[in-house]
Amino acid sequence: RAGAAGRGGINAFAEGLQQSVVRELGIESRLREAVRDNLLTLVLQPKCRLADRRIVGAEALVRWSDPLLGAVPPAEFIPLAERLGLVGKITDWMLQRSLAEIAACPDPTISVAVNFSALDFYHPDLVVRLCDSLDKAAVPPDRLVVELTESAAVHDVPLVNGRLQALRALGVGISLDDFGTGHTALAYLRQFAVDSLKIDIAFVRDLPDSSPALGVTRTIVALARGLGLETIAEGVETEAQAATLRELGVDVGQGFLFGRPLPPAEFHRRVREQMESARL
Ligand code: C2E
Ligand code: MG
Ligand code: MG
Ligand code: MG
Repeated sequence: RAGAAGRGGINAFAEGLQQSVVRELGIESRLREAVRDNLLTLVLQPKCRLADRRIVGAEALVRWSDPLLGAVPPAEFIPLAERLGLVGKITDWMLQRSLAEIAACPDPTISVAVNFSALDFYHPDLVVRLCDSLDKAAVPPDRLVVELTESAAVHDVPLVNGRLQALRALGVGISLDDFGTGHTALAYLRQFAVDSLKIDIAFVRDLPDSSPALGVTRTIVALARGLGLETIAEGVETEAQAATLRELGVDVGQGFLFGRPLPPAEFHRRVREQMESARL
């Protein structure tokens, strides 16, 4: 196919390839170092109950800013970390940091959600490690939520579901992330030991005007109700989206409208403000 573009095309193609390989190799070694030297950071994004906009939780998101590469988005370096066998270390680190932050949160009813990779679920000691971490941080299990993408969950249903059941038996919450894009058969969903469905940003983005997006959202809410699950919408950016989601019966919203991912101290400050205004 490159041949059809002529000689210049081939050269440009080869150069582009070389650049991307160089960048990839650069990223690889720098990511290894960043993980080893604890150069990652954590931010917390508020999750708000749509009925009254009270902050009820936070999602912990990893950040990596490299002096040479700049800010590398997790959508780029998490898949790389998975290939390099580093993702387990990142998850462990995020888990420790998230538990420390939720222990320091002024409101003891707020929970923190941590993103897990499908690969974490293949580790036989996942449940023991998580149990240990909760113990060490002295955080009650019901203040932790594990987010797993729907597509990761359907990878190996019996294995993943076994682990989900064990986590749930501990009292940890389970949320199926990016829901609506991962092709879960209804038969599986009924079996899955989960507590909430997180409606993918792809549908939320097209609200309130797109009738397919409305249809999908309505269907996910009906499905969740039928199964006794909570619903969360990700990527809520506008008042019109929030109003529509609320009308459709979605419980919780997360997105720039309610707050950007924040450094933990700022998140705690927002929670404190909320507690103070509730007391007035
Ligand atoms: P996710 O778990 O679905 O996280 C939500 C993403 O949406 C985050 O992107 C967040 O910053 C972004 N977001 C939040 N509100 C809005 C909004 O109103 N509009 C838009 N356009 N985006 C919004 P981020 O932080 O870049 O993370 C991307 C993905 O990387 C995450 O998707 C998750 O799959 C993965 N990820 C992030 N942190 C971790 C982590 O610690 N461990 C693992 N395994 N994956 C992570
Ligand atoms: Mg998530
Ligand atoms: Mg998500
Ligand atoms: Mg997403």
